[in-house]
Amino acid sequence: MSNPSLLILPGDGIGPEVMAEVRKVINWFNKNRDFEFNVSEGLVGGSAYERHGTPLHDDTLAQAQSADAILLGAVGGPKYDHLDFNLKPERGLLRLRKELDLFANLRPAQCFDALSDFSSLKNEIVAGLDILIVRELTSGVYFGEPRGIFEEGNERIGINTQRYTESEIERVARSAFDLAMQRDKKLCSMEKANVMETGILWREVVTRVGDDYPDIDLTHMYADAGAMQLTRWPKQFDVIVTDNLFGDLLSDLAAMLTGSLGMLPSASLGSQMPNGRPKALYEPVHGSAPDIAGTGKSNPIACILSFAMALRYSFNMREDADIIEYAVQSVLADGLRTADLLGQGDLAPISTSEMGDAIIAKLLVS
Ligand code: NAD
Repeated sequence: MSNPSLLILPGDGIGPEVMAEVRKVINWFNKNRDFEFNVSEGLVGGSAYERHGTPLHDDTLAQAQSADAILLGAVGGPKYDHLDFNLKPERGLLRLRKELDLFANLRPAQCFDALSDFSSLKNEIVAGLDILIVRELTSGVYFGEPRGIFEEGNERIGINTQRYTESEIERVARSAFDLAMQRDKKLCSMEKANVMETGILWREVVTRVGDDYPDIDLTHMYADAGAMQLTRWPKQFDVIVTDNLFGDLLSDLAAMLTGSLGMLPSASLGSQMPNGRPKALYEPVHGSAPDIAGTGKSNPIACILSFAMALRYSFNMREDADIIEYAVQSVLADGLRTADLLGQGDLAPISTSEMGDAIIAKLLVS
């Protein structure tokens, strides 16, 4: 394989701390594989604002457009709260997602055995859980026009519009089918076809795309029933595909099935580049955690697992992604915990860098 390029954007708060542990993992792969990642680093969010007066400089965007994959830490923090809307750190991340047209947001909900007590659900319901929610990210009710607050008669009226084109549904459906092909070949599509025209169209298009994937067991569920089923028996699902609004809710619900924010990776994928790889941004679900930034208490696992997702989805290095996930599983099984994962009876927490080192020590030379 030719050397893949990775753009690293550590961002703000704990972003640089957790990303430092990812860099150790990348260095391990560079030493133990017959190719090297070409890593470059840039600024995003508040750190970019401080240097360039904008949360995403055009040069950084150009770097992102040419990189094989982007790995982002987190953005934001109270010291940027006073900034104008367009200068806020989050605008940098949103601009990246928009300019790269990252339309499929992947949120795995995986329950590591050693942490199954962290879930608000019973152990047997979540132990061994491994599902993937694919949320449409660039259209739907968060973007549809008309929108706004208008005067109507003698009162105000708030309007948002749920709008989907067939091609927008088709491309995210294809991503979800392709992902299901790499997993247990089960896809459940969720919408509200009983009360929404966009839901009817969504169901029709997903069904039509499904004709191209005869090996996939495709089912449909109303999104409200899906929320119930996710809490009743989540292990019935493999991959779920849904729209922007329902995906926002369902992916957070599924995330909490597994426990801690410090454990959750994500990916946002766009269309294929000429080299056959999807445009892709990988980032932990958590934010910049200003309350613990600089204390060595942050959990780097979500960011390390985001890198594992990059190996799986951008570089087709599935076995290496598995190796990272096994290393995380094994470290947790040994009882090692950062402060956010401490349960009753656990030993003293380890630091961010000790967690990174412990994971590296478990990576197998294969
Ligand atoms: P947060 O995710 O930063 O923190 C919520 C709580 O979880 C905090 O108590 C924090 O200490 C803890 N936590 C989060 N990640 C952790 C980790 N890896 N290890 C240990 N503990 C962890 O959410 P918030 O406090 O609502 O937001 C803080 C800032 O982050 C805000 O400026 C917000 O806008 C921003 N934010 C950014 C992103 C992103 O970059 N994608 C996402 C969410 C929030």
